[in-house]
Amino acid sequence: MFFGSFVILFIAIATLLIYLIRYGGKKDFKDKYDFASRHEIKYHQTMHILIAIAIGMHLNSLKPELIHKDGLIHEDGLILFFIRLAITIVAATIYGYIASLILRFYYPTRLSQKLKRLRYTPRINPKTGNKMQLLSEDEEDVYLDEGQRAEEDAFSIDYDVWIDQATGDTTVEKYEGHLIALKCDRCNFMTLKIEREELVKEPTEFEEGELVQHYKCSYCNRIKRQSKTVAKSGSSVKIPDNPQFVNPLLGHSVEVVKIEIHGTNGKVKDYEFRNTREASEFLDEFDFNKVED
Ligand SMILES: [Zn+2]
Repeated sequence: MFFGSFVILFIAIATLLIYLIRYGGKKDFKDKYDFASRHEIKYHQTMHILIAIAIGMHLNSLKPELIHKDGLIHEDGLILFFIRLAITIVAATIYGYIASLILRFYYPTRLSQKLKRLRYTPRINPKTGNKMQLLSEDEEDVYLDEGQRAEEDAFSIDYDVWIDQATGDTTVEKYEGHLIALKCDRCNFMTLKIEREELVKEPTEFEEGELVQHYKCSYCNRIKRQSKTVAKSGSSVKIPDNPQFVNPLLGHSVEVVKIEIHGTNGKVKDYEFRNTREASEFLDEFDFNKVED
């Protein structure tokens, strides 16, 4: 176990190194962004679990002479064995708990800062070596096709358009949006949204209810129905009341709009928008049911 603890520790460090090597191997910012957003937290989780196991194994292998000598267990050896085991479990659990708190509360902020940096670092046009410029939401529409614009309007996908002002070359990058829309099985855009919900059977305290969701694709108008069970006393929250921001004419003086939504279900979500119009439209679309946990 003593040597095993070092082996596990080595594997833990190797896990982080593998992540860093794979991340470093991604050639551009967008690839780095995708890789980090998908894998960074998972690799860290694996590493911390392995470290917790290594700590446990290491502590559990200390002071063997207190427990047995010449293959025989001492008088108090059995008690000491269990005390050592308890200390081991407590120490490994404390490490695991602290690591999980860091990963849940501190790390996501750091990661999102890193992702923001990757997303907004000026791109270089590979053909000319020129620095490219990121178009604003209003300017970029011209470079997107109709389906892509429909996805942006549904907030399911966010497109960034970079332009080389000298040559007019553009690069379009695709990012996950704030809300969930399903992939339409007819046009393949992420534009299938719930249009209305119909409570066919009201849930009671004792019985589940039934909800029929009517989907409509905002691009090709495909209609789809799906029935869902409703939890016994659950309720969902919808942001109401056409929220108004500043005069849209003054919208240009706004650099960023941050929205923090606190649900009665304890969920807290925050979002950032580049202008008030977008933020307003987002609130019209918002529903906790459309948000990933
Ligand atoms: Zn469609």
